[in-house]
Amino acid sequence: MKLSYYCSSCKKENYLKTKTTNRHDFLLEYGKNEINERCKHCGNHTKRHINRLHAEPNKLILIGGILIAILVTIMLWDLGLVSTLTATIPIAIGFSDKARTSGFNRTMVK
Ligand SMILES: [Zn+2]
Repeated sequence: MKLSYYCSSCKKENYLKTKTTNRHDFLLEYGKNEINERCKHCGNHTKRHINRLHAEPNKLILIGGILIAILVTIMLWDLGLVSTLTATIPIAIGFSDKARTSGFNRTMVK
């Protein structure tokens, strides 16, 4: 999952990567409730409270899910087992990732 924030200088979007799925765990992982990260675009340091970071679903996970579904479809094609099940794999993966990000965005820390 990635967390996005906008640079206070150039207003471009920056990302922080995290393995955590909620803000409390991210706070523990990061160690303080305010980030101070260098902008990838202009080099300006931006301070942001963790509550202002916005989690975004990882598109790579969804693309990976689609690729898995295509592979499974190809493998099962000869066996005549192709069903709507293969189509639901990327949807299920996409939804679980979306659920994690919305869970993150709902929680707030002090
Ligand atoms: Zn910037």
